[in-house]
Amino acid sequence: MPIYEYHCKKCDKNFETLVMGGDVPACPACKSTDVSRLMSACGFVSKGKGGETTAKAAGTSACSGCSAGSCSSCGH
Ligand SMILES: [Zn+2]
Repeated sequence: MPIYEYHCKKCDKNFETLVMGGDVPACPACKSTDVSRLMSACGFVSKGKGGETTAKAAGTSACSGCSAGSCSSCGH
């Protein structure tokens, strides 16, 4: 079963969760379902380049482009 990393737009936190059949998970911190799935490859790029935490890296505009499906903006 796949484990995906998500970013909560409401409280700006990242979390990992197990997803079954395309369900949208709720944020464990605030229970919001206003979340976006992060591409794991993109997360690694963000972490590797800046040495930042995942949450901090995903808070940048670079990673919102990533969750929209384009990873090209995520390499900086
Ligand atoms: Zn949240």
